[in-house]
Amino acid sequence: MKWRLALISEHASPLALVGGVDAGGQNIAVAELAYHLAKLGYGVDVFTRWDDANLPETVEWKPGVRVVHVQAGPTTFVPKEELLCYMDEFTENAIRFIDRQTDPYKLIHAHFFMSGLVAANIKRSLGIPFVVTFHALGEVRKQIQGSCDQFPPERFTIEQRVICEADALVALCHQDREDLVNLYEADRAKIFTIANGFNPDEFYPIDKPLARIVLGLDPAEPVILQLGRMVPRKGVDNVVRALGHLRRAYGMVARLLIVGGESDLPDPDLTPEIGRLQELAKEEGVEQWVTFTGRRQRETLRYYYSAADVFVTTPWYEPFGITPLEAMACGTPVVGSAVGGIKQTVLDGETGFLVPANDPQALAAKLAALLYSKKLRLVMSEEAIQHVQDNYTWFEIAHQTANLYELVLSGQLTPAKMQRRTMLPSAIQRDVSAIITPK
Ligand code: UDP
Repeated sequence: MKWRLALISEHASPLALVGGVDAGGQNIAVAELAYHLAKLGYGVDVFTRWDDANLPETVEWKPGVRVVHVQAGPTTFVPKEELLCYMDEFTENAIRFIDRQTDPYKLIHAHFFMSGLVAANIKRSLGIPFVVTFHALGEVRKQIQGSCDQFPPERFTIEQRVICEADALVALCHQDREDLVNLYEADRAKIFTIANGFNPDEFYPIDKPLARIVLGLDPAEPVILQLGRMVPRKGVDNVVRALGHLRRAYGMVARLLIVGGESDLPDPDLTPEIGRLQELAKEEGVEQWVTFTGRRQRETLRYYYSAADVFVTTPWYEPFGITPLEAMACGTPVVGSAVGGIKQTVLDGETGFLVPANDPQALAAKLAALLYSKKLRLVMSEEAIQHVQDNYTWFEIAHQTANLYELVLSGQLTPAKMQRRTMLPSAIQRDVSAIITPK
C-alpha cells in the first residue's frame, strides 16, 4: 500500500442507492474515486454519516476501500439541508476513529462544504492536510435557486473558511473554477481542474435492437432519454415542453423515457417532481409519449443509454454532470444545456449539441435534427465514444487526483510554484513527475 487516505463525504455514501433527491453524482464520484485510488495502491477510507442502524461502523466495501460510518445525529436518513448542526459531532467522532488507527492518514479529500468544514477542523486538531471538492457552491445555488435553496446561510462563511484553509481546491470544470475565483476570491494558484468520470466496465454501447428488446421498448419508435435525480433544477420540464414543440412545430413524435426517482416504480407521492411533470405532459398533449420508469440500478443503465437515439440533459445549472459522459460512453449523442460541466464535456456539433438552459424551442430544434438524421447520429455516436474514452475514464481521473495528492504532500506547493501550476489536469501529471521523480 502506498499510504492511507481519508475521503470525507458526509451525506453521499458509496453504499447508497442513487437516483433519488439526495443521492446522485457525488455518491458515484466518491465511490469511483475511492475504488480507482485503491487500485492505484492507496489505502482508502470513506467517512460518511451513519444513517442506517443496520450497517456496522466499518464496511469492507472493495479491496483497499473501507466505508467508515460516523455517528452524527440520528442513525436514519436526514436531508442534507438539515445536517450542518451535526458536523461538530461528526468531527469529534471522526477524530476518535482516526486516533484508534495504527496507520495514520496522510491526507484528507473532503467532498461538499460540510465535509470541508470537518476536514478543516481535523486539520486544526491533527495537522492532516486536506484537499476539497465542493461539488456545488452555495453562491451559485443561491443565484440560480434563490429562496428555494434550503441550506442555512452559514454555508457561505463556511465555504470561505474552507477555501482559505484547504491545501488545494478541486474544480470540476472551468465554470466551477471561475465561480471559485469570482464569487469567493479563491486563490487561482490553489485550484486544480479535475473532472468527474465514467466507468468503462459499466458503460459501453449495447446493440440498440438488443437493448430495446431487453427493456421491452418498441424497436421502431424514436427514443429520447432523460436520466437523473428528479429535482426541479434538472429542468426536465424543458424536455417535456420540447416534446410538445417537436410535435406542433416539426410534426415529429418520439418516446420520452424519464429514469430516476425515489423508488423503482414511478410514484408521484414519493417523487413529487414526477407528478408535476405528468401534469405538464398532459398540458402539452404528449402524455401518451412520456414514460416514467422510476429509479434504475446501475447495471441496467447502459441498456437505457444504448436503447435511446438521443440523451437529453437540460438543467438550470450543473456543477459537472456525470450522465452525459455515461450516455456518450454508450454511443448516444447528447443534447445538453450550455452550463457548467456540460458545456465542457459535450462538444457542440461533434458529440451532440449545446442549447441555452430553459429554452424548449432550441432544444426541440436540435432534437428534430438528430431524430431526422440517422447519419448524424452515427457520426456523433462514434465521436462521443472516442471523446469520453480519451478524456474521462475514472482511471484517468483517479491518476490526475493522485498526482494532485502527491503534489500537496511533496510540500512544494509554495505560492510562487503554485502560480505556475494553475493548469489543466493533463499538465498536472507532467509537472508532478518533474517534481517527484528522483533525479
Ligand atoms: N442514476 C442512477 N439511477 C437512476 C438515476 C440516476 O444510477 O435512476 C445515476 C446516474 O447514472 C449518474 C448519477 O446518478 O451516475 C447522477 O449524476 P450527475 O452528476 O449526472 O447528477 P447529480 O446527481 O450530481 O446532480
